[in-house]
Amino acid sequence: MTHLLRPRRRTVLAGSAAAGLLAATGLRPAFAQQAQGAVRLRLLETTDIHVHVHPYDYYRDKPDDTMGLAKTASLVAQARAEVPNSLLFDNGDYLQGNPMGDWVAYKRGMKVGDTHPVMLGMRALGYDAATVGNHEFNYGLDILDRTLAGANFPIVCANIFKGAAAASPRGDRTLLKPYAILDRTVVDGAGERHPLKIGVIGVTPPQIMVWDSAHLAGKVDTRDIVDAVAAWVPEMREAGADVVVLLSHSGIGSLRRVERAENASLAVAQAVKGIDAIFTGHSHLVFPGVPALGGEGIDAAKGTLAGVPSAMAGFWGSHLGIIDLDLQREGGRWRVLAATAEARPIFRRDGRDIVPLAQPDPNVLAATRAEHEATLAYVRQPVGKITAPINSYFALVADDPSVQIVSQAQIWYVEQMLKGGPYAGLPILSAAAPFKAGGRAGADYFTDVPAGDIAIKHVADLYLYPNTVRAVKITGAQVKEWLERSVGIFRRIRPEATEQALIDDGFPSFNFDVIDGVTYAVDLTQPPRYDGQGNLANPGAHRIVDLRFDGKPIDPARDFVVATNNYRAGGGGNFPGADGKTIILEAPDTNRDALVRYIAEKGTIDPSADGNWRFAPIPNATNVVFDSGPEAHKHVGGMKKIALVGPGANGFTKYRIDLS
Ligand code: MN
Ligand code: MG
Repeated sequence: MTHLLRPRRRTVLAGSAAAGLLAATGLRPAFAQQAQGAVRLRLLETTDIHVHVHPYDYYRDKPDDTMGLAKTASLVAQARAEVPNSLLFDNGDYLQGNPMGDWVAYKRGMKVGDTHPVMLGMRALGYDAATVGNHEFNYGLDILDRTLAGANFPIVCANIFKGAAAASPRGDRTLLKPYAILDRTVVDGAGERHPLKIGVIGVTPPQIMVWDSAHLAGKVDTRDIVDAVAAWVPEMREAGADVVVLLSHSGIGSLRRVERAENASLAVAQAVKGIDAIFTGHSHLVFPGVPALGGEGIDAAKGTLAGVPSAMAGFWGSHLGIIDLDLQREGGRWRVLAATAEARPIFRRDGRDIVPLAQPDPNVLAATRAEHEATLAYVRQPVGKITAPINSYFALVADDPSVQIVSQAQIWYVEQMLKGGPYAGLPILSAAAPFKAGGRAGADYFTDVPAGDIAIKHVADLYLYPNTVRAVKITGAQVKEWLERSVGIFRRIRPEATEQALIDDGFPSFNFDVIDGVTYAVDLTQPPRYDGQGNLANPGAHRIVDLRFDGKPIDPARDFVVATNNYRAGGGGNFPGADGKTIILEAPDTNRDALVRYIAEKGTIDPSADGNWRFAPIPNATNVVFDSGPEAHKHVGGMKKIALVGPGANGFTKYRIDLS
C-alpha cells in the first residue's frame, strides 16, 4: 500500500524484483519467459466516479460497499503488484454526482488554490492521465479549472475547443491539451529496461453544449468524437507515441458512424487506425464480461470493440478496468502481439446480500476525511423548506405529495432542458410512481418526511433509485394507455358493501405511475385493461375515464412530452408509449439531482398533491380495504372517505376507503 503515497509514477516499474514477481505469479508464463524486448504493459481504468471517494451513500447516510474510489484503490494496488509495468487512467465524470460534489459547488466553494476532494482522493492513487466527462461541466468552467489545477497528472480532451472551429481539428484551440505523450521506462521479460512513449488522448460527448449550455454557450464548442480522434492520433504517432490509449468518455454505441454521436467508442474503434486500447465509460456499464452487452463489432467475452482491446469500469468505483498489452520490440518499433481486457469488481451480489471484494484504502480515506465529515454535516442540514408533510402512506389510494414533488421537479427540469429546442412548444406532463409504498417490502417501507426543514438526505427517501431523467414524446391516446397500464395495480371492485381488497399485492408500486399535468378518474368496476406484465389482457375494458388536459377532454392525436426516468422510458414495466423509441431527451442527470436542484433553487416548496386523479364513484362500495404503515394514522385526518379499521397482517395497519 505504501506506494500509493508516491506522488508521481514517472517510472512504471519496480525493477528486476517485479520481473521476478511476474514470473512467480505464473501470469502468462509463455510470454513472461520470453526474454528480450517482450513487455507486458498493464493499463488500468477508473471511470464515472462521480465524487464517490468514500464507500458511503450520503443520501441514505449509510456506508455502502458497492461504491467508492477508496475501494477501487485497493484493486489498483493489487493489479499493480501483479505486473512490472502499469499505468492508471481516469475516464471522466469525477466532479459531480453525489452530495460531496454539491457540497463543494454549492456550499464550500472552490477558490483558486483549493483542492477538490475527488482530486485529493485521485492524487493519493497516482494517476498517469485523465480526461473530462460531461459532468465535469455541470458547475461551470471556473470550478472545473480550479479542480483540474489540483491534478498531479495531465488531463486531456481533444474535442472541446475555444473560439471558432478551425478547418481541421488539429487547428482548434482546444480547452485542454488534446493528448499527452507519457515518457515511461518499462521492464521486459528479461529484466531489461526500455523507454516507452505512451500517447493518451481523451474525448467527451459533444452533447455537453446542450446539457450545460448555460455554462458553456459562447465560451467553448465541441467536435464530433470520431473526427477529433481521427485527426489527432496521427499527430501522436508523429510525436513518437509507441502505444496509443484512448480515454473515451463515451459509451459503446454502434459500429456505424452517426455524426456527433453521444456514444461513439465502437465507431472510433472501427474508423480510426492506430489505437491500441480504448477505455470507455459514460453509460455506466461493465465491459467486458457481461454477455448481454454484445452486438456487431463487440466481443464481450474477449473485450474488444472492432478488434481493439477495450474496457469499461462500471460507475462510482464499482470496477477497475484492466487492459494488458503484450508488446514486442521488433525492428526498432513496438508491436502489440496480444491483449486481454477485464473489469474487476469491488463487490459481488449473493442473492440480496452484497459481498465486498475489496477493503477501502486507508490512504485514500485519510486524504478526504475532513471533506467526508463536512459532507455528512451538509446532507444532514436543511437545504429548503416544505410547507406540508411528504409521506406515501396513502400514495396508492389518492394523489399524494411524495409523487407530486417528484413530478414538480421533473417538469421543472425537463422544461429547462427542452428550452430553445424543437420540442419546446409541447405540453410537458410527468409520470412518477410511489417507490416506497409498503407491499412486499414491509410495513416500515414508506416515505415520511415532516413539514418544515428538508435535508438532502431526505431526497433519497423521496426518490429511491439512481435513475436518470428521460422525456418521451407520445400522443394523448398513448397517455391514456400508459395510465391504463398503471392502474392495473387495483383489483376489480364490485358495487356492493361487502369487504373487498383494493390493491393487487403482486403489482409493484414502482409500476403505478401517476401522470401529472392531466386530470383523470379510475373506474374500478372495469377489469384491468393490461396485466401485470403490460400485456393487453381485456381489450374491451377501459378504467381511465374523464381524462382531461387543460380542463378539456384530451385530444388523442395531440403530442405530449412526458418526463420520466430511464427505466420507464427504456421499456421498464412494458408501458404503452415507453419502449425506448419515443425518447426525445436523455438527460445526463439523475431524477434525484433534479429534485435536489429544484428544492435548493426554490427554497420553499408546497408539495401538496393537486388531486389530479381520483376514483370514479362506485355505488354501495363502502367497504374497500387496503393496508398502510403503522404511522399512517397520524395523517389519515386529512384524507377524505378513508378510515382506520385496525391492525392488519405483518405489522401493517388496515384502512377502509369508501368509494361510493
Ligand atoms: Mn457518468
Ligand atoms: Mg398530482
